[in-house]
Amino acid sequence: MSDRPLRLRFAPSPTGFFHVGGARTALYNWALAQREGGTFVLRIEDTDEARNRPEWTHGIIDALAWIGIAADDPHFEGPYFQSHFADAHVAAANQLFEAGLAYYCDLTAEQVQERAKASGKPGYDGYSRDRNLEPGPGRVLRFRVPAGTTVVTDLVRGEVSFDNANTEDFVLLRGNATPMFLLANVVDDVAMRISHVVRAEEHLPNTPKQQMLWEALGEEPPAWAHVPVLVNEQRKKLSKRRDKVAVEQYRAEGYLADAMVNYLMTLGWAPSGETEIVPWSQIVDEFRLEDVTHSPAFFDIKKLSAFNGEYIRKLGVERFIELCAPYLTADDVPWPREQFNPSVFSAMAELVQTRVTRLDQVVAMVDFLFLTDPPIDDDAFAKAMSAPNAIALLGEVIGAYETAEWDHDVLKETLEAVGAGHGLKPGKAQAPVRIAITGRSVGPPLYEPLVLLGREETLRRLRAALERGGGPAA
Ligand code: GLU
Repeated sequence: MSDRPLRLRFAPSPTGFFHVGGARTALYNWALAQREGGTFVLRIEDTDEARNRPEWTHGIIDALAWIGIAADDPHFEGPYFQSHFADAHVAAANQLFEAGLAYYCDLTAEQVQERAKASGKPGYDGYSRDRNLEPGPGRVLRFRVPAGTTVVTDLVRGEVSFDNANTEDFVLLRGNATPMFLLANVVDDVAMRISHVVRAEEHLPNTPKQQMLWEALGEEPPAWAHVPVLVNEQRKKLSKRRDKVAVEQYRAEGYLADAMVNYLMTLGWAPSGETEIVPWSQIVDEFRLEDVTHSPAFFDIKKLSAFNGEYIRKLGVERFIELCAPYLTADDVPWPREQFNPSVFSAMAELVQTRVTRLDQVVAMVDFLFLTDPPIDDDAFAKAMSAPNAIALLGEVIGAYETAEWDHDVLKETLEAVGAGHGLKPGKAQAPVRIAITGRSVGPPLYEPLVLLGREETLRRLRAALERGGGPAA
């Protein structure tokens, strides 16, 4: 096992959006392949015809490329498609039958159940083990599970022993002679000379059966590593019905690939040092299966967002602008599209960059710059205007801004001086002006937008707010 060349595989079934847990498994395999000069084989397990769709396959390949697992990398091999190897799966089943390691059984599923009910022992009872049935329509081929114990040596969990008495003689070929998943999975792993099977914990119960199959096929089993499940904040296994699990969705919301990769790697493993935010090169250097934890890993979207915020702040501003472009020019932006001005956004970009944790949040940060009348948050407006002196302050700011030099520092000093006259600290003094200009109580710094909007537009918004707040016309 250990002296085989390192060949890992990622073997997703294309039956839905690409799950973050799948991405984590893929990355663990990828990190190992890169460090050890091994091969990462992508095998699409597309034998479940009822649930597979080609678009899911494309989605997986795309998402893998997005997180850096690219088909043109020298460590990458594939994609292979399991459905292309059906003949090899059947041939392996025949080999096991010929060798007496598997046998045919003519019981229907209902009959198997009836027998289990009658005996009080669940599962298939080995009824046809010694009946020497030949293959025939409706007959399933079952593996003859040997007596004894199967010890799975798992690089994450250590040795896990399974009493073979608890494993029924499982089906290899269905009654219509098509291979079962377990058989296909092992035959492909054997054919692809896989040295390490690194996959999600949920496959651990299959492992003794798979190890028996490797042995029955005359092969030394691979090294196994089962990585911990991902759970939500209620400690329930992440599920696509309950939780946001699709990599594609995170990507669409403006999580950066590097942040996603870094965060996913920390679900069950941690880099050395103070911070978990580390470059891929360090991950590749340090990642060891032996250091992966057993316990379920909490997929914490808040933490992912914090990672993402850090990665966003590390971008050069030009790159940040480039990455924001799709969000600012999307069909569903809240402003009339012709009112978007890229140079206004560029002027604001640095300020926005430090305040978002997802790229899609930029839209709400700058919408007031491209909307003629940004919608006003009523509650925030009422609150800002009910502060003592808010109305008076607005009136005075309007007066001062009518003639002030239209310059960032002057606008700031002017507003702060008006505020000071009312005994208000700068933050408090800004509040009614901010809501008047942006419609919100929080947002990017105030004075850059005022410069960008210009005197006329600033005064128009301030006057409208004064009127709405019940102040005298100014
Ligand atoms: N196709 C299986 C799945 O997506 C993976 C099996 C394996 O990794 O062995 O769950």
